[in-house]
Amino acid sequence: SSTAEVRGPDEDQGPGPALLAGDAAGEAARRRTFAVISHPDAGKSTLTEALALHARVIQEAGAVHGKAGRRGTVSDWMEMERNRGISITSSVLQFGYRDAVINLLDTPGHADFSEDTYRVLAAVDGAVMLLDAAKGLEPQTLKLFEVCRAGKVPIITVINKWDRPGKEPLELLDEIESTIGLKPTPVNWPVGIAGDFRGLLDRRTGEYVKFTRTSGGATVAPQEVFKPVEAAELEGVAWETAVEESELLEASGADHDQDAYIAEETSPLLFASAVQNFGVKQLLDVLVELAPAPAPRPTVKGDRRELDAPFSAFVFKVQAGMDTAHRDRVAYARVCSGVFERGMVVTHAASGKPFHTKYAQALFGRERSTLETAYPGDVIGLVNANALRVGDSLYVDKAVEFPAIPSFAPEHFSVMRAKDVGRYKQFRRGVEQLDQEGVVQVLRSDLRGDQAPVLAAVGPMQFEVSAYRMEHEFNSPVMMEPLEYTIARITDPDAADTLSRLPGAELMMRSDGTALALFLNKWRMMTISREHPGLRLDPLVGGA
Ligand code: GDP
Repeated sequence: SSTAEVRGPDEDQGPGPALLAGDAAGEAARRRTFAVISHPDAGKSTLTEALALHARVIQEAGAVHGKAGRRGTVSDWMEMERNRGISITSSVLQFGYRDAVINLLDTPGHADFSEDTYRVLAAVDGAVMLLDAAKGLEPQTLKLFEVCRAGKVPIITVINKWDRPGKEPLELLDEIESTIGLKPTPVNWPVGIAGDFRGLLDRRTGEYVKFTRTSGGATVAPQEVFKPVEAAELEGVAWETAVEESELLEASGADHDQDAYIAEETSPLLFASAVQNFGVKQLLDVLVELAPAPAPRPTVKGDRRELDAPFSAFVFKVQAGMDTAHRDRVAYARVCSGVFERGMVVTHAASGKPFHTKYAQALFGRERSTLETAYPGDVIGLVNANALRVGDSLYVDKAVEFPAIPSFAPEHFSVMRAKDVGRYKQFRRGVEQLDQEGVVQVLRSDLRGDQAPVLAAVGPMQFEVSAYRMEHEFNSPVMMEPLEYTIARITDPDAADTLSRLPGAELMMRSDGTALALFLNKWRMMTISREHPGLRLDPLVGGA
């Protein structure tokens, strides 16, 4: 599974026999491409394993993430990189369920929270918002939810850990609706309070699915389904309460409405215990039955790329340095139309140049294997992708360009300097590379000069990764000096004069030419904004 092994022979392989364009729309209709958004510890890894287990990709829970990857830390990440493996932060899990093909894109969740997480959300058609029953909406969930909202990604909500004491189910529903304005439409309703999980009332059939504990959740729990009369006998008051509450929901209009769900006004909601593999089959069924399949994607021209159009894709993530000896770079691209076949020569829209795809890879957990064919909704990993940047479009035959992926609001800022000024050339090359890959955003100002760029990040791990790569990949050890700014707004370049005179604020230029006003905090920004009403201060996506 190393990069070296999957590299094919160096001779040119022409594209294989062309598949009928009609295959693309048919295959797309079966695809469900989604990501799980959650706060750390809500159970995302556990749920991922449970989903894969249900789909029987893996026989025993644990095979996807393993023990070491489970608690992803900076050092694990670096270790994985050294071993040329692929980090769990970039895994895509593909599995079949019923007639569907499910692509679950993993998002970094722990300390390594970064811009990558946001970009993955640009490549999915839906998201599962996973909440801890005892905690409800948490800060990171809220941030990620805002990104989904900005990207018009419909959301299915899962209340996890119902086997443990938690909040009241109706209280959780109220919290979701009042905090983020998304009306939950429960697909099922818990029988028994949090911590006394008896089972689920399936609100669509009225049937009772009894909760069966499995040893350690390592096997698929058997499903025992009962008619309402039997359920009443089995569970008594707990069942009656669930039925009453479910009727209450019906009366308040909390039933599923497909259009409202797609419009992100409502969210189908399920209760589960991921660690017990309970409620997981229900989630898979809802994904297959309700979650949207890939749709024709909007282009910069304002029209849409039909699924049956010739192959097209856009890059949503670039990962470098996994094989430093070869300056290996993998670009992850989401297929938007047509049929992808390994060996195809595609056009890179940004440069107009051909790109050879003979090293395309499928990505499964940490493994990489050669990929032969892919359809809309699938993710392909392209090795040797040195020319590809995040947001770039690829196509064959019929030119297309997809809109840029919005860059997200940085909340951490740090000056980076070369330890050895004699190595300025290496330093500059490294900074440029990190900027191009979007590992961090690089900001500059006349005031600070070229030798001390300011790195801006969504999460602090981006700085650690940057410093590590500057030293090991570009031979330029660096010093990092954190700045106290916490907020950035898009402004006009000529605001520099105003801002340079004010304490707690600074103007910096991003490499794409966008002027960013940095502020110590929200209050400082509000004060300055009041005193300078003409000052443009537009928020970036996903920021505070
Ligand atoms: P992540 O940080 O969101 O990936 O969370 P993990 O999947 O690593 O889970 C965090 C902790 O919660 C682990 O100790 C899990 O065993 C536990 N956990 C996950 N799901 C459940 C659940 O349904 N019930 C209970 N009781 N614990 C759970």
